Amino acid sequence: MKKVLVLEDEASIRSFVVINLRRSGYEPIEAETGEQALELLRQNPDTRVALLDVMLPDIDGFEVCRRIRASDSRIGIIMLTAKSQEMDKVTGLMTGADDYVTKPFSPTELTARIDALYRRTGAPAESAAAFEIVRGPFRLNTRNRTLEKNGQRVKLTQIEYSIMKLFMDNPGKALSREDILNSVWGRDYYGELKIVDVNIRRLRIKIEDNPTIPTYITTVWGFGYKWGA
Ligand code: CA
Repeated sequence: MKKVLVLEDEASIRSFVVINLRRSGYEPIEAETGEQALELLRQNPDTRVALLDVMLPDIDGFEVCRRIRASDSRIGIIMLTAKSQEMDKVTGLMTGADDYVTKPFSPTELTARIDALYRRTGAPAESAAAFEIVRGPFRLNTRNRTLEKNGQRVKLTQIEYSIMKLFMDNPGKALSREDILNSVWGRDYYGELKIVDVNIRRLRIKIEDNPTIPTYITTVWGFGYKWGA
């Protein structure tokens, strides 16, 4: 079953989401509080995508996201953010979410986002023949979808992994933000280009020697980014 965790304390929004997910062939797992969501994920380790509301009665959605990421880098996480809280998007992504959807959202938009993330988190392993890309101090294993820098594992989300793979497949090539969005999120993705910048900011913190003076993922001003190792 395609399990999706739905963490939302407002019953009306939760049931709206749940009904639409069922209609699209998913098995929603409902949680009203952050603690309940974490417990349900422990009971359902095969859940591949989690939708997390930010404003909750106990711990907030960002904290839930952080706690999930502390033990699971593979699950896809989408934050449900309020329109008025522009900063929530960036905060959510910086705490490890893969995407965000702004309330009020349409069922079509939400399902498209979940479909995209679901496809990516379940991407099949590639052939054993060429499953490593080595550039500079980095070693990307496309079979396990893992990254090492100088032999040390760097924990990546699935989105970060996909961005790293795109860069390491295209060394020295300037990639526009649109190229990155289309390649990593898919052409049917509804989101904004800003999500590319936020993910790259987060990735730089993980992989650069000094994230404020990036040397591996460099900025191509007014265009996009380039891999330099
Ligand atoms: Ca709420």
